[in-house]
Amino acid sequence: MSKQIVFHIGGWSSCGFYNKAYNVLASLSVLFPSRLRVVNHVYGSRDEYRSWLLGEDETDGFRDTFLGISKANKQTSSPFSWIEDSGSNNFVGGCDDTLDWCKSFVSPSASDAGKEKSKMKPDDFSEGHGYDYDLVVIGGGSGGLAASKEAAKFGAKVAVLDFVKPSPAGSTWGLGGTCVNVGCIPKKLMHNAALIGEILTNDVQPYGFNAPEQTEGHQWEKMRESVQNHIRGLNFNYRVTLREKNVTYLNKLGKFINPHTLEVTDKKGKVSQLTASRFVVATGGRPTTLDCEGGEHAITSDDIFSLEQSPGKTLCVGASYISLECAGFLAGLGLDTTVAVRSILLRGFDREIADKIGAHMEDHGVKFKNGVVPSKLKKASDGKITVTFSDGSSDVYDTVLTAIGRRADTEKLGVDAVGVKTNPKNGKIICTDEQTSVNNIYAIGDVMEGCPELTPVAIQAGKMLARRLFDGSDEPMDYQNICTTVFTPLEYGVVGLSEEDAKQVIGCGSKIEVYHSNFTPLEWSLSEHRQKHPAFCKVIVCKEDDKVLGMHYLGPHAGEVTQGFGVAMKKGMTYNELTNTVGIHPTSAETFTDLTVTKSSGESADSKGC
Ligand code: FAD
Ligand code: NDP
Repeated sequence: MSKQIVFHIGGWSSCGFYNKAYNVLASLSVLFPSRLRVVNHVYGSRDEYRSWLLGEDETDGFRDTFLGISKANKQTSSPFSWIEDSGSNNFVGGCDDTLDWCKSFVSPSASDAGKEKSKMKPDDFSEGHGYDYDLVVIGGGSGGLAASKEAAKFGAKVAVLDFVKPSPAGSTWGLGGTCVNVGCIPKKLMHNAALIGEILTNDVQPYGFNAPEQTEGHQWEKMRESVQNHIRGLNFNYRVTLREKNVTYLNKLGKFINPHTLEVTDKKGKVSQLTASRFVVATGGRPTTLDCEGGEHAITSDDIFSLEQSPGKTLCVGASYISLECAGFLAGLGLDTTVAVRSILLRGFDREIADKIGAHMEDHGVKFKNGVVPSKLKKASDGKITVTFSDGSSDVYDTVLTAIGRRADTEKLGVDAVGVKTNPKNGKIICTDEQTSVNNIYAIGDVMEGCPELTPVAIQAGKMLARRLFDGSDEPMDYQNICTTVFTPLEYGVVGLSEEDAKQVIGCGSKIEVYHSNFTPLEWSLSEHRQKHPAFCKVIVCKEDDKVLGMHYLGPHAGEVTQGFGVAMKKGMTYNELTNTVGIHPTSAETFTDLTVTKSSGESADSKGC
């Protein structure tokens, strides 16, 4: 389902080079009409052609629309080729370049024929620019560290600034950004603690072990210490790696003064300036705080993983990734846990799966208060917080954890003042191929409008941008079919479209087929308590071309199961290819290779064993 390429070629009718290139292109467009359309700009004579291409005095011809593309600006001969893409033109070259392009278009090994090229505009970077650095990256999180190290690899003089502003509750942390300090890493470790607890309570006995009295005995302080020690080790490793890769690390807060100058402030409040030819903004986001009376008594994900003591009875506000993941591990550690759901669980995800996650969490000890938001928080002298909800009900909690989304960290960055366009609703920076509205300022990761807020996305975008800036690459970041996993107690891995989105994209339900299976992973089969909520696989297929549109997996090790299928999805896997793949037995992932029951058949999705 790749987009049709609109290929333009200009030349004069009796030019041999033009004719050679045009004939090959024309043949390809006949062979692959859905993939290629050729627009011919042919002129009767060499003079007419040159007058179109170069204009009067070689100044105002068509070629001038490629301002800043030096290869295009130097080209005077015939043919002159370019690809039209979403309103902009990407220069290809002359005869040889056009023939090379044709070869890659048909070559099966170069499946990147027809791949989009980056639409980044020239930013006036030159070797002798005279600034302090070639590149300054603002933000040493997942994206910023990746971009700075990759740029330094190509010989660029790079500095990365990272400065952590304390959360409203006073938490701070070290180098590495959200993922390492207050995101993926502590979250997954605490999720794992809860999974270990579940195994100890419910699974070990049939395997011949005695179940210890572990949940009541869980020591938050011990877990916190181990997790925080691990994080400190990672913080240290990041510093060492930056030094090894010749990236200057500055523990300073940056703010733009002009497009090439930052004002930087260190921990002691000392202010100085630094200049760079190019900047990458990678400042990520921070949790949105609760906007109601007493909202300041709530903590966020910036605080939960470093709490000195167990959070106790906890209310999690919000019903997406962060709230449900935290509620899942808190309940798994034996804490009284409630989730306040404003509307639905996991907006944007497959509804059938979201419902299954909710039902499983409820049986797992999580209470849900549906259709409510907190309207008032009141903290007593003993630290307990009385929460009044929008439906008039109230309850008392030891901790209120707000997880209602995140806002880009751009408020005091000065980007608007230097002309970088942002979305006023969320502070995110608007970009085309990670380039902002100011050509020498780029943005990656959570701070960029439209970027999925995921660590590997920030890393990949950072690396690819660095390659385009310092290694001549023109490959844009591909934001399609990105796998993700929600680490709820029953983990959920997904790549591609939800059933609802697939129906929308394809036009109607009858054009898709849904294959599904409920099954019990072998490792669960000896445990009584696991039988109520089986694991689940679902694959959504486009009937017209057999392409897999979405894969969904609910069960153990969801991240590990989903990752590999992500590669296949990127390569455009069909249902036939999936089911022709030999499975690995006995695993959960093999269920995907053996999906035959369709939803439309009305047959039971329950697996009949191996
Ligand atoms: P960040 O990692 O946020 O880094 C930005 C850095 O810039 C920070 O260190 C900040 O202090 C610094 N900074 C900000 N302003 C300035 C300034 N003016 N000057 C200098 N420095 C500045 N993603 C996953 O893929 N998997 C998960 O399991 C997962 N779990 C998560 C769990 C939680 C609780 C949270 C909150 C997020 C989770 N994420 C997960 C998302 C992931 O953490 C983010 O997508 C990722 O960290 C974004 O990276 P980034 O480089 O864009 O920004
Ligand atoms: P999201 O933006 O994904 O979800 C926000 C949630 O809060 C929704 O349930 C929303 O409800 C609710 N909400 C919004 N405003 C309010 C309000 N005023 N009062 C009550 N509820 C409200 O945010 P998260 O904080 O969960 O996650 C942020 C991002 O971090 C995610 O999108 C994800 O990309 C990333 N992340 C990734 C993880 C992973 O990979 N495993 C784990 C954790 C985070 P409603 O539906 O009604 O709008």
